[in-house]
Amino acid sequence: MSYMKALKCRECGKEYAKEALHVCELCFGPLEVIYEYDKIKEVLTREIIEKRAPNMWRYRELLPLDNEPSVGAQVGFTPLVRAHNLGKALGLKELYIKNDAVNFPTLSFKDRVVSVAISRARELGFKIVACASTGNLANSVAANAAACGMESYVFIPYDLEKTKIMGTIVYGATVVGIKGTYDEVNRLCSEIAGKYGWAFVNINIRPYYAEGSKTFGYEIAEQLGWKLPKNIIVPMAGGSLITKISKSFKEFIKLGFVEDTGTKVFGAQATGCSPIINAVKEGSELIRPVKPNTIAKSLAIGNPADGYYSAKVMRESGGWGESVTDEEIISAMKLLAETEGIFAETAGGVTLGVTKKLIEQGRINKDESVVVCVTGNGLKTQEALNGHLSEPTIINSRLSEFEDLVKANGKEYVVKA
Ligand SMILES: *Cc1c(COP(=O)(O)O)cnc(C)c1O
Ligand SMILES: [Zn+2]
Repeated sequence: MSYMKALKCRECGKEYAKEALHVCELCFGPLEVIYEYDKIKEVLTREIIEKRAPNMWRYRELLPLDNEPSVGAQVGFTPLVRAHNLGKALGLKELYIKNDAVNFPTLSFKDRVVSVAISRARELGFKIVACASTGNLANSVAANAAACGMESYVFIPYDLEKTKIMGTIVYGATVVGIKGTYDEVNRLCSEIAGKYGWAFVNINIRPYYAEGSKTFGYEIAEQLGWKLPKNIIVPMAGGSLITKISKSFKEFIKLGFVEDTGTKVFGAQATGCSPIINAVKEGSELIRPVKPNTIAKSLAIGNPADGYYSAKVMRESGGWGESVTDEEIISAMKLLAETEGIFAETAGGVTLGVTKKLIEQGRINKDESVVVCVTGNGLKTQEALNGHLSEPTIINSRLSEFEDLVKANGKEYVVKA
């Protein structure tokens, strides 16, 4: 049973059939999936959700498929970690990390959007899936396409992290590195999608793809004991995740699952690619494209598709946005690892670095609940830390050399009796 009603233009409200469409033919506004909330309210309760398996499909009535998903059965329901140590370091009373660094199967939140997009592409009869990616999407499209036996094409800027490229090719995807930025990759992909009719998950399947991100927000609300956080900090690339987290909270309020306690939504970008943050700070509705230059490559989209709507979410929720330099990103990655034992990728460094800044600016109230969104795994962006960590000490296999080392470190330990 599907509760997906139609596609609807976010600007003029014109409705379309649930097909592979993504822009309004009247006003060129983006299309969004709408649902029959009255019917969902009749069949879905918190108790029913709680009894289901711990994965993102426990919210399936709110996802845009006509049938059961054909791939990604185990995606989602990642830990919401109560971060006592990091909270203490930042002076926060109630801090949580939503940790999609351990999302299945490719260790980023992109498995949520991709399992929805590929499942929907199959329902719509597509045979080939593809994407324009800054890295994590590439990994996820390749893995999930392999898992359901589909051919995949992945288009990336040629200079991505080695691990992200390897973690795509290994699944048998055809990987094409484009000499250019993500925005140039995206432009080419739009042409290919138009000419060959392939399912580009984040272009012509985008309205369905984007809905997968809502599960990140649903899980936070459920894991907080059916409550919304007072503050949430979200990394932004194209700006889809932040708008969908906001939509997920609004849907849960509409369905009566949580109380509306007024969540402030904050956006995070790297200073080397911060078109959305620039607009927020200037109080402008216009997103001026930039040429990215940052180690946070997964967030390096200079012309963000949902930039306008992201800025609106921040503004209307009473939140704000900030950016951090590469140096601040690295130092935040280390802080998260050393305090909570979580190794996040550069995007996680962006989110935590921005959180720290917003606290210092007094924009986040230290007595309120705060959720920091970690969206990808540090093992995939190891290059970023090259030269920023100490080296292991090398000695011979001799007790005396070990004891010399302990002494040199100024330590002294009790010898066991
Ligand atoms: C893609 C990505 C994001 C942001 O995605 P958008 O929805 O495009 O804003 C955040 N973090 C990581 C690690 C990503 O790969
Ligand atoms: Zn329209």
